[in-house]
Amino acid sequence: MRERVVILGPPGAGKGTQCKLLAAAGGLLHLSTGDLLRAEVAAESTLGQQVKAVVAQGDLVGDDLVLAIVRNRLGMHQEGWLLDGFPRNSTQAAMLDDLLADLGQPLQVALQLQVSEEELVARLLSRGRSDDSEAVVRKRLQIYARQTEPINAHYQARGLLKCVDGLGSIEEVATRIRNSLDERKHSRETTC
Ligand code: AMP
Repeated sequence: MRERVVILGPPGAGKGTQCKLLAAAGGLLHLSTGDLLRAEVAAESTLGQQVKAVVAQGDLVGDDLVLAIVRNRLGMHQEGWLLDGFPRNSTQAAMLDDLLADLGQPLQVALQLQVSEEELVARLLSRGRSDDSEAVVRKRLQIYARQTEPINAHYQARGLLKCVDGLGSIEEVATRIRNSLDERKHSRETTC
């Protein structure tokens, strides 16, 4: 089945790693707004130059700009996808609802990867990405708590939210995610 899934969870929860596995196994598009923005920065494109400082400081890039990136990619890909790092706030969640209604591609699951803050900080500081210094990591976690976590309620209210424990080996977490997506086919109950 070609699923349409939003992967939610704090920075360091393993969204990127798990999306890569799921996408490869299921023939899905993995759309990571963070990866796309980093690629623009690396290529020193006009867009990259605009967002470089914002990304480096751990702040959020403008909603319209990120939506344009997502719209382009999803518009071309009808088959099934995993959104990683988008939506990031309630404005983006509403924009995504409108976009998916326009495209006739309703969301099937919003899957939240849960990891304790202590573990997140340890993981992020060992990852070595240029926006993973301690001060920037703390800011990104704060922005997550204030702006991104509240959108779980948006998906819970629609009966789309599923929670998965993100602690353990990559394979263990991947199996839990797979099971959770398979369960969805039999029941629409939320597990958060
Ligand atoms: P990520 O790889 O998802 O942790 O994203 C890395 C950085 O890219 C974030 O700290 C933001 O600066 C930017 N970014 C990624 N996705 C978004 C988004 N949906 N909205 C705004 N900024 C984003």
